Amino acid sequence: MNIEDPCVQTAQTVLRQLPSMDKLLLDDRVAFFATELNRPTLKDACTGVLGVWREKILNGEITRFDEDLFYAEITGKLRRLTTPSLRPVLNCTGVVVHTNLGRSCLAEEAVDAAAAAGMGYSTLEYDLDKGERGQRNAHVESLLCRLTGAEAAVVVNNNAAAVLLVLAALAANKDAVVSRGELVEIGGSFRIPDIMRFAGTRLVETGCTNRTHLRDYENAITDETVMLLKVHPSNFRVVGFVTSPEREELAKLAHRRGLLLVEDLGSGILVPDEDLALEGETTVTECLRGGVDLVTFSGDKILGGPQMGAIVGKKELIDKLRRYPLLRALRCGKMTLAALEATLRMYLRGDWKKIPTLEMITASEDALHARAERFAGKIASLCAAHHLSARAIPCEDAVGGGAYPERPLSGWAVALGGTEGFNPSALQAALRACSTPVVAPVKDGELLLHMRTIRTFEEERLAESLSEALERIS
Ligand SMILES: *Cc1c(COP(=O)(O)O)cnc(C)c1O
Repeated sequence: MNIEDPCVQTAQTVLRQLPSMDKLLLDDRVAFFATELNRPTLKDACTGVLGVWREKILNGEITRFDEDLFYAEITGKLRRLTTPSLRPVLNCTGVVVHTNLGRSCLAEEAVDAAAAAGMGYSTLEYDLDKGERGQRNAHVESLLCRLTGAEAAVVVNNNAAAVLLVLAALAANKDAVVSRGELVEIGGSFRIPDIMRFAGTRLVETGCTNRTHLRDYENAITDETVMLLKVHPSNFRVVGFVTSPEREELAKLAHRRGLLLVEDLGSGILVPDEDLALEGETTVTECLRGGVDLVTFSGDKILGGPQMGAIVGKKELIDKLRRYPLLRALRCGKMTLAALEATLRMYLRGDWKKIPTLEMITASEDALHARAERFAGKIASLCAAHHLSARAIPCEDAVGGGAYPERPLSGWAVALGGTEGFNPSALQAALRACSTPVVAPVKDGELLLHMRTIRTFEEERLAESLSEALERIS
């Protein structure tokens, strides 16, 4: 006779209730996912859950086979496997160039151009006139030159790559002088000292965090110096007792001593200051006019295009970059180039206000106020049904992306709140869990929907997500 521990016997009984793999795969709840997952993946997911259950049954954590719970676990796992990871979200933060949410929203024609380039063959590196190999850079170089007044231009994967390429190609094993006030970390991952180390450029710091004079640069120059590097301090600002030399003075000093002046401008502003009303920000053209030899900037910050980094300036230097082997590792893909060319053509036509990023940055307070009132009205009854109020309130928005941080943009939001016991964090989390997730801040016990970063055509979807989220938490 087989004498077994009664506990183990129970475990064996429960184990026997677990469905076999064949039975599982035929079950409607699992078979439902067969159109989106191949058989090995389906099997693998089932094996995983079966294994966990087996172990828990054997160690006594599970003493009864609960079929609903078991299938809920399996379908939960399968749902996670089939849900796309990189998904569109609605940005209600009011931060236009939001790095975590993908920075700029492309204009429709930029999206169309990228889609067309992605779907088929193109002239990426083909010259139709000559019937021979062409330059991938050529599609955007003349446009960038026309829009900035530069002699030549080259584009790479992002601005960090642009800075790396410039340093590696022009200042390897040499010294570059940077003001201590500009040695900043941008967005937690871009640090000028790190990039310089990768490029093999020796960093010579000069001046103090708040004040760097022309003579500080002058004193830092040695026989090993090849470059003065100016860096946009981005989301970092020293205010008050602050000095730094004018760009023109720096350029004169650099050129008198046979050095290059390079500027990492961060955001690539291609339209005149007055039009953008971002007082204090320098456009690419102003940099070049100020005597800077090479300027680098991002494509997906204030430019409003795809992720890329541009280097514009003196032809002789750009030619050196073109020949430098690292360029091959940093080059842009065809969809990026297509989207960039389409975006630049909008500038060329004078249509830059239709580029979503620029449209959002330049949206007037009055227009945002009107939209906030209208949207508050649209969701009023939905909110009331959940004992909430929705009202338009003024708020502070931001350009983001490290540009223009000290002066917020005046915006309008719809604030949800009003009743006692309302938990804005619960609504915030529920909004993130919607089929179209919403990212929105909580302030003073209310949930805010900043209108600036919601496109008009997204309002309907935002209302739907809100309804879904309120349903879930009620
Ligand atoms: C944003 C920024 C960078 C990094 O640009 P990416 O395009 O994100 O690589 C570098 N320098 C400055 C000054 C910036 O503002």
